[in-house]
Amino acid sequence: MGIKVCKFGGSSLADAGQFKKVRDILLADPDRRYAVPSAPGKRGPEDEKITDLLYQCYRLAQRRQPYAQLFDKIIRRYVDIVTELGLDFDIEPLLHETCAQLQASTPDFAASRGEYFSGLVLAKYLGWSFVDPATILKFDRQGAFAAEWSNELAGSELKKYAHAVIPGFYGSLPNGEVHTFSRGGSDITGAVIARAVQAELYENWTDVSGFLMADPRIVSNPRRIERLTYRELRELSYMGATVLHEDSVFPVRKAGIPTNIRNTNAPQDPGTMIVVREEDCGDTGTITGVAGHKNFTLLSIEKAMMNSEIGFGRRVLQALEDFGVSFEHLPTGIDTMCVILPDADLFQRKEQIIERIEENVHPDTIELSSGLALIATVGRGMVRTPGTAARLFGALARAGVNVRMIDQGSSELNIIVGVDIPEFENAVRAIYEEFVEA
Ligand code: ASP
Repeated sequence: MGIKVCKFGGSSLADAGQFKKVRDILLADPDRRYAVPSAPGKRGPEDEKITDLLYQCYRLAQRRQPYAQLFDKIIRRYVDIVTELGLDFDIEPLLHETCAQLQASTPDFAASRGEYFSGLVLAKYLGWSFVDPATILKFDRQGAFAAEWSNELAGSELKKYAHAVIPGFYGSLPNGEVHTFSRGGSDITGAVIARAVQAELYENWTDVSGFLMADPRIVSNPRRIERLTYRELRELSYMGATVLHEDSVFPVRKAGIPTNIRNTNAPQDPGTMIVVREEDCGDTGTITGVAGHKNFTLLSIEKAMMNSEIGFGRRVLQALEDFGVSFEHLPTGIDTMCVILPDADLFQRKEQIIERIEENVHPDTIELSSGLALIATVGRGMVRTPGTAARLFGALARAGVNVRMIDQGSSELNIIVGVDIPEFENAVRAIYEEFVEA
């Protein structure tokens, strides 16, 4: 029997009804021993997230402007939850105390209270112990997360509890002051706790039944990804597709713990399972997903006999480094080298960068063409399946899409194509239909 750590996102704890679902989920499986809650999120499109309200109150407090009325909304949210759950818990005085502390506090302290109170309520409701993450998750003096220190602290502390609720999103600096992760950081807390207690599984409960194979704003009703590896997830999320905080992947991946994305509102759905090894994925089709984004520039440098000029590539990249620009892709030919860069990085530095490349390598020609969108077709199955590239380019040709750049990732997990921005959606649909619906 292994341990499961369950993180619940803001929408999973938005009101008392959601808390009930969370309790049912936790009690349905005795392996679910540690819960990591977020602050209550939106109950509908017009609603406000508790964390956002806390930041607003903090800003008003710092400007010495009245904020008690706004803070009242926060109080009401928690009091309503506690009352509706029928808990014998006088939360209101604690909330008033926090309200009074805001003027002399830090933004991190203010924001962290959303998770703190969410955790207190959930612990009471379940009858589980409450462990304040400020005591077990540590950041260094510069605010960088102290992963190994925290892993030891959390591991030895949590061992003492059969069940515990650990609020997400924050920990503390060496002097004990509360410090938060970046926004959406409860995902990270969950992963860190999963590693610390050597969990068998990290369950990340949210409001969708897992990752989709394509962006539903482009492809109607895309299928769910049943299983994928962390490597594939990295490729897909780098290209813009994700419901998971990027930094939350590393602790569990490193420890070999799978992550299961689940839906609090449809707990019967198996969700998406992210695993370390390909062997644990089973056979789930040629591609895992397709994702992409817009606004890239292609810089092509041509020079006769480039291939025999030692240090050519380094000098081109040096020019980029001099201006603090990192490149996305680097497709090369015999006498050509292309560099793909995000438009935002080139902003106002185009001429200088070109000049520097000219100085460094004296190319025959150098051309810039912008307006590029990149699309990554990702899948561990692509390596094994002959004809994948032919199918992909065939589908794009039939859809009338002109491919301006091709880069087969060296990981062999993906094929990246560059197309003109107006053809982006059309190209994504063509690829999806070819591999998934055909
Ligand atoms: N409540 C925090 C936020 O809104 C952290 C989280 O929900 O993961 O960013």
